Amino acid sequence: MRSCPLCPVLSVAALVAVPVVLLVAAAPVQDAKSTDKKEWAVHDPARPQPPMVATPASKAPSDAIVLFDGTSLDKWTGNGGTADWFVKDGYFEVKPGSGNIRTKDGFGSCQFHIEWMIPAERECKGQQGCNSGLFFMDRYELQILGSNPNQTYVDGMAGSMYGQHPPLVNACRPNGEWNTYDVIFHAPVFKADGSLEKAGSMTVFFNGVLVQDNSAILGATAHMAKARYSAHEPALPIGLQDHGDPIRFRNVWVRPLK
Ligand code: MG
Repeated sequence: MRSCPLCPVLSVAALVAVPVVLLVAAAPVQDAKSTDKKEWAVHDPARPQPPMVATPASKAPSDAIVLFDGTSLDKWTGNGGTADWFVKDGYFEVKPGSGNIRTKDGFGSCQFHIEWMIPAERECKGQQGCNSGLFFMDRYELQILGSNPNQTYVDGMAGSMYGQHPPLVNACRPNGEWNTYDVIFHAPVFKADGSLEKAGSMTVFFNGVLVQDNSAILGATAHMAKARYSAHEPALPIGLQDHGDPIRFRNVWVRPLK
């Protein structure tokens, strides 16, 4: 028999390694995203398929709630009941002085899509001339502002969570061009006594570019004041701000998240 100095070592290593490999291969993996919390094996063929969603180009996904289809503000209310902002040519426009509008339905955590444009002829000076805002739960503002070119305080420019977080970059298009916001909004959670259990957050893609990366919401949006939370319902309307400027919007849809 030939001498094999490493054989005893290799044999022991194999004895240890084989069961470890088997254990790893057989271990079920906990998937935090599985809705039924069942533990699935890796590549388990019995794991249910996700629902099919049709994604036609430049239109809402098939499972989204369309909040503006180009023709009507039926899904919105305004001061006095109806949302009487202008609707024309597939978009709607702030009617200055008429007040904010908000969705008839309430929403909590959601994926939200909206396109907005500052008319080409508008002059933007800081917060004046080109201002609106997107309010989740009627109180947490993602700023809408002409910001190309237009300098203002950075926690009040386009893509900012107003008074809280500047955008990571300025991805704003010039006036006269459509901008897109795609937002993952997570609603805050409150305890039974009204205190905050978990802060809300926003992740925002601005014209496809990440500008808010899971940014924590500090409280209800406030002007020149520190934001504070106060407990509220788990689903509330989404609002759009009349800041006195004729900002345009189109292709608005929402997908509630569980
Ligand atoms: Mg605003």
